[in-house]
Amino acid sequence: MQDLKNQKIAIIGAGVSGLAAAWALKDSDWEVSVFEKSRGPSGRAATRTINGVRVDHGANYFKLNSPDLEELVLRELPSQDLIQIPGEVHLFDENSELLRGDPHLNSEAKWNYKNGISELGKRIAACSGVKIIKETRVTSLEEISNGEWELTSADGNNLGVYDAVLFTPPAPQVIELISDSMISSELSESLMELLRESEYHCQFSILMGFDERLDRPSDCCALLNNDRKHAVSWLGFEDAKTGRIDGDFSVIVAQMSPQWTESFYDSCDDIIFSEALSEISKLIEVPRTGPLWKDKQRWRYAHPKVALDIEEVQECSPEGWFFCGDAFVGRGRVGEAILTGFDAANRILRGSM
Ligand SMILES: Cc1cc2nc3c(=O)[nH]c(=O)nc-3n(C[C@H](O)[C@H](O)[C@H](O)COP(=O)(O)OP(=O)(O)OC[C@H]3O[C@@H](n4cnc5c(N)ncnc54)[C@H](O)[C@@H]3O)c2cc1C
Repeated sequence: MQDLKNQKIAIIGAGVSGLAAAWALKDSDWEVSVFEKSRGPSGRAATRTINGVRVDHGANYFKLNSPDLEELVLRELPSQDLIQIPGEVHLFDENSELLRGDPHLNSEAKWNYKNGISELGKRIAACSGVKIIKETRVTSLEEISNGEWELTSADGNNLGVYDAVLFTPPAPQVIELISDSMISSELSESLMELLRESEYHCQFSILMGFDERLDRPSDCCALLNNDRKHAVSWLGFEDAKTGRIDGDFSVIVAQMSPQWTESFYDSCDDIIFSEALSEISKLIEVPRTGPLWKDKQRWRYAHPKVALDIEEVQECSPEGWFFCGDAFVGRGRVGEAILTGFDAANRILRGSM
């Protein structure tokens, strides 16, 4: 790559991986713009407010299992209202039998913020000083001259010309984006072939609030299905998160299994909620009156099933294209997605030296 000082890079997606890349580029000569299709940053590390309560409807917590992650979260980002979730993750099998969790995994700290996990993305964005152009879905790229890429949004707006582009969404969404683009590169077919190896599980998150404290096993913050045969994959208790819920309320987040999600993917809300509640009731006792409120999120691309090889993908990519995100991790993990963002930033910096 030629001298790229003060050149412009577009990061597509303000999830934690894209934001981590923006953060790592903050002191470089790159001018960084982040485009995000939704209203706020943090992607699948997502929180929403329901009835005045902050609820994590995507990732539940993150682990700091590498020195780079510890450095970022404990020393570089503001640590106010950073919490460790007390309690253990217990297991259950297909018959809803509860078992103690893995002592090793349970000994690792589970991190979050009092205001919800989306604080992580917000704080990385704020500390990188990057400009996030929200509610802007990038739909195509066109190579306008050797090594320059013009981006267009869903509403047909020209989003500018960039010397480099970092793709961060789940690989199936990157494929859509590239398919709709005008790319002369001979490499694009082999690149698409590699990206097509990526597969994601879909998942419904079912959120329910109750006007009483639900009983849960003592010292337990969540339940995890260990044989992958139950309709519920994960049942999290938001009231286990320090400082999150005052009073005698309970909020649960049930992440339904990929199989269950596929069978109810297009069902109406009434069916989704009643079927999900009947599965949840096999694990915990819920009041006969049912929940005070309920909400849901349907994640088309929740967790990757396989890891793509970043070296192979980079090798097949046009100059100036970079990639990160959990498609390169092979499992849904906030911390590991952040590390792919750091890795992408290193490649970008190495390319511009
Ligand atoms: C239900 C659920 C539970 C999970 N639980 C955990 C957990 O407990 N712990 C854990 O560590 N991990 C968990 N994960 C996984 C974790 O959330 C992800 O691995 C991580 O957040 C992925 O970050 P990312 O930056 O790679 O992708 P994303 O967060 O998906 O970021 C990509 C961003 O790109 C945006 N985007 C997509 N297409 C475009 C476009 N064309 N133009 C502009 N923007 C676009 C998206 O809106 C999104 O913000 C969970 C995930 C889900 C869905």
